[in-house]
Amino acid sequence: MEPKQKKNLARILIAAALTAALHFVPVTGAPRFALYMIPYLTVGYDVLRKAFEGIKNRQPLDECLLMAVATIGAIALALYQKSGDYAEAVAVMLFYQIGEWFQSYAVGKSRRSISELMDIAPDYANLEGEDGRPVRVDPDEVEVGTVILVQPGEKVPIDGVVVSGASSLDTAALTGESAPRDVAEGDEAVSGCINLTGVLRVRTTKEFGESTVSKVLELIEDASARKSHSENFISKFARVYTPAVVGSALALALLPPLGLLLAGRAPGWGTWLYRALTFLVISCPCALVISIPLSFFAGLGGASRQGVLIKGSNYLETLSEVKTVVFDKTGTLTKGVFEVTAIHPEHMDERQLLHLAAHVERYSTHPIASSLRAAYPDEADGCSVEDVEEVAGCGITARVNGSAAAVGNERLMERVGARVRACELHRDGTILHVAVNGEYEGHIVISDVVKPHSAQAIAALRGCGVTRTVMLTGDRQAVAARVAGELGVDEAHGELLPQDKVARVERLLDGRSSERERLAFVGDGINDAPVLSRADVGIAMGAMGSDAAIEAADVVLMDDDPLKLATAVRISRKCLRIVKENIWFAIGIKLACLALGALGLAGMWLAIFADVGVMVLAVLNAIRCMYLR
Ligand code: ADP
Ligand code: MG
Repeated sequence: MEPKQKKNLARILIAAALTAALHFVPVTGAPRFALYMIPYLTVGYDVLRKAFEGIKNRQPLDECLLMAVATIGAIALALYQKSGDYAEAVAVMLFYQIGEWFQSYAVGKSRRSISELMDIAPDYANLEGEDGRPVRVDPDEVEVGTVILVQPGEKVPIDGVVVSGASSLDTAALTGESAPRDVAEGDEAVSGCINLTGVLRVRTTKEFGESTVSKVLELIEDASARKSHSENFISKFARVYTPAVVGSALALALLPPLGLLLAGRAPGWGTWLYRALTFLVISCPCALVISIPLSFFAGLGGASRQGVLIKGSNYLETLSEVKTVVFDKTGTLTKGVFEVTAIHPEHMDERQLLHLAAHVERYSTHPIASSLRAAYPDEADGCSVEDVEEVAGCGITARVNGSAAAVGNERLMERVGARVRACELHRDGTILHVAVNGEYEGHIVISDVVKPHSAQAIAALRGCGVTRTVMLTGDRQAVAARVAGELGVDEAHGELLPQDKVARVERLLDGRSSERERLAFVGDGINDAPVLSRADVGIAMGAMGSDAAIEAADVVLMDDDPLKLATAVRISRKCLRIVKENIWFAIGIKLACLALGALGLAGMWLAIFADVGVMVLAVLNAIRCMYLR
């Protein structure tokens, strides 16, 4: 508990005890009034002050003013009617403060859990000192390419590559994955992970500000600023609601007595004033105003604990309405780690063909490229590679030792004018054709495997209400069909260029029966940016290490596991269900109490009790969003 919360709790307890004690003190008149003012002011002084400040700043219609008007009104009424019933006003303030206290506690709790996540922020980086001992520096000052030391128990402060040492990294804060990840020389060390066992020397590949940890923190901080439809609904609602309620209260205080007066009966000003005041107290929509943003806030926090970063509550809401999921194939449903399964050269020998292809791919970040480089690692052999040009969705052309080489699919071969010879052996494999100076030189058959959880993820998505799954790929249709069949994806479309993927997604968007049936696109972020932004919600996989993914997507899955996708949809649905429960619950009880209050069937005690009760339940319900799985 924070000091302020402790102080407020003490105020509440003292005022409650005093009021209870006063119940047994038989004084009347002015002393009684003075005695009751002690607990009233103890518990309510800040509300009165805020109400007064609100009037001064000309934005008076908030809940503090409602409370102040209602309680001062009740006291005035008790004085006027000489009933001495001041306990009511004190109780109203008391319950209001209990509700407020409860809310600040809940908000504090969800903020804390978000800041637990923030705990991935490193405080320092270790440079290697002259005597080999670590020297702490500000991570912001470490330049790219510096070797830093990460000792067991410390966080990796900056993204880099392990140059020596072996250890396991705890990635739980980033990915929600509890099993540690083993790293050794040559592996990537992602910032935000905790080094568990061995000392690592890491050569940084990014600046601190560009590292995963900084990006993730930035994202979490920005997320709460983007409001969802439900939140906007509430602020629109409030703009109509507050004046309507104040108007109704005034009408309630004036019209019935005037009517009675005209009819020649006793007007009963006191009764109607009391009902109007009760009406005001009941009307305060605290439960709604508080619980909805809190639900989204908690939902965003809960999702990020599972390794799903959602860039705003609007996307959380969209995600909950997803009916169609469109997947990219390579790197999303498949591992994107290709193995060379066959080499069929026309003129050169197999090694030469592989050598040529690996060189053309030397500078590309495409998964195919890194796989070929892994298959032919001998880089420093003095060959020259110039004029590299990547043709998205087709392949790469480059000048290797002076000759124009091209590596890619049939479309690329067409472009360079080489006559392809189809592969008879591997009809449904991914095939890389190679041409030199427009002459066909043969092909390399590579194969990728589906990720272990892909099929399960498709089934899980179906389980949470997704009705259509589609796979789009630039690979051959035969490969697309085989993979889709293996995974249980409804439709597969192959041989698509990046712009064709956008067109496909647009066609799917146009073809749906309602705007509310949202479409999500899931890709690995590499050359998917246009589609990611075209879909209702763009989801990128494997943010650990890939900037492109964090930049382009609305939702980022920290690791490569497609099951996280189902987790994301499930969390969003549950969170939205909680939000809706709260909206209906709060509005329903509120309207019922308002009706009872206007009819004089509910007094101020019941009103405030209902209000605080609804608020406490709504807030408790909202907190559940943080623990969704
Ligand atoms: P996906 O849609 O499966 O993610 P891409 O659109 O990235 O695939 O690529 C589509 C096809 O283009 C690949 O299957 C391959 O035939 C060819 N291609 C793309 N990039 C390269 C590359 N760097 N080297 C060779 N071929 C490539
Ligand atoms: Mg791709």
